[in-house]
Amino acid sequence: MAALPGDGQRRFVVQKHRARRLHYDLRFEIDGVLVSWAVPMGPTLDPKAKRLAVHVEDHPIEYIDFEGVIPRGEYGGGDVIVWDLGTWEPHDTDDPAAAVAAGELHADVHGRKLRGRLVLVRRGRANAGEQEQWLLLHKDDDFAVPGWDPADHPTSVLSGRTNDEVKADPDRLWRSDLPPDQDSVQLKAEEPATAGVSDDELAALDELGNNGTWEVYGRQLKLTNLDKELFGGRDDEPGLTKRELISYSARIAPVILPYVAGRPLNMNRFPGGATKPGFWNKQLPDHAPDWVPRWVNPDAKEGRTTTYLVVDEPAALIWAANFGALEWHAWTSTTADPRHPTYALIDIDPGPSTSWDDVLVLARLHRTALEHVGVKGQPKVTGRRGIQIWIPVVAGLDFADTRVWVEELSKAIGSVVPDLVSWKWDVQAREGLARLDYTQNVHNKTLVSPYSPRPAPGAPVSAPIAWDELDDPDLRPDGFTVRTVLDRIDRVGDLFRPALGPPQELPPLR
Ligand code: MN
Repeated sequence: MAALPGDGQRRFVVQKHRARRLHYDLRFEIDGVLVSWAVPMGPTLDPKAKRLAVHVEDHPIEYIDFEGVIPRGEYGGGDVIVWDLGTWEPHDTDDPAAAVAAGELHADVHGRKLRGRLVLVRRGRANAGEQEQWLLLHKDDDFAVPGWDPADHPTSVLSGRTNDEVKADPDRLWRSDLPPDQDSVQLKAEEPATAGVSDDELAALDELGNNGTWEVYGRQLKLTNLDKELFGGRDDEPGLTKRELISYSARIAPVILPYVAGRPLNMNRFPGGATKPGFWNKQLPDHAPDWVPRWVNPDAKEGRTTTYLVVDEPAALIWAANFGALEWHAWTSTTADPRHPTYALIDIDPGPSTSWDDVLVLARLHRTALEHVGVKGQPKVTGRRGIQIWIPVVAGLDFADTRVWVEELSKAIGSVVPDLVSWKWDVQAREGLARLDYTQNVHNKTLVSPYSPRPAPGAPVSAPIAWDELDDPDLRPDGFTVRTVLDRIDRVGDLFRPALGPPQELPPLR
């Protein structure tokens, strides 16, 4: 089971559960268990809505990030996604168990979708053997949104997938007949999560000629120019062909999917290979096969990109690689809510005279600053020369909120080391110094996705790192490559998982 950083904070989860009837299970961590209500219409931010909430049995804490299927015939048989996840505090009491026993719980929730104060009130006592009926409301507070409908937000906050997608390809099976520490049965290797493509399928890719049709992940992909060299070699190694990029895309797809699914993907294309100039290709071309998942931007301005690729399934990433996308940039926001980011991004962008040691100094200062304000960020090397830090944030922040917060944090850090950092926009005026680029926190501006290749010799990738690797003298910003990063994932797992949550408030810095 993926560990969720708890830090003594209480967690809550909403699982969208299709059993005999669709409902949303709202569960609060109280005294080591998940105290639970089943809400048929789902929780909402709408302050006018009163929702029936059936008080159901407590669930074991191990269930909090369960997403998968429950076998037919078992209690709750059906499919489950983690529809929302976050932290919460009881309001006006430090004994929420007593509040539940007394029939009224006020909960301040900090989720990816739900924010503000939820109120649960019991509607009278149930007869013996019957379940208690409660009402669920959202206070008319700053986070209330009239008319907000959970059905408009159908995807998992962990995987970006819908119930249908999880049902078609579940990762985990829940066995309520087994003890709590065994009842989530892994259907696929979770770490490494690279088991998605078989050796036979990879062998079939190797056997194709320069062009051919590859059957993988249930799709038939027409692949072209497989023997073309796309990346030059590094350190006396041979260059990398498109076949090698396609193979990498297929193997990394299950790992990268949680970070790109449900988000528009901007493709940085280098059809002539990494040594030739590339260009941004945001518009999904008309020749893309019908199965390729896509999103039509309802707010697209005249003459701008209307239709974006959305890598909701592994084959879509392979399709993009074959299209010449060497670099993958998923949006900071989702197609469901493109104006609200799910991450705040810190970009330590070295200038020409910034050394790697300078970048490390800046990254360590960010580590200290984030620890100081109690915010968890996940670092990764860029695969070029820099380091980025991704911070999962609660719902409801807009890009101005994340941008201003990152600007304040970065300026505080820059003031500690003024000789390393420039705030000038113009590259010349920066005189080679680093920039702490908070301006990336803007709608439709993107940073390179975790595990994306970069167009440079040796095909380096943007690789997640553990914070203490900043103190590893062997760490290099472009040290992990298409050829080495999968072995690293086999060894250390997917270090980027903490970026999936729980979502955090950005506390005031002054
Ligand atoms: Mn349920």
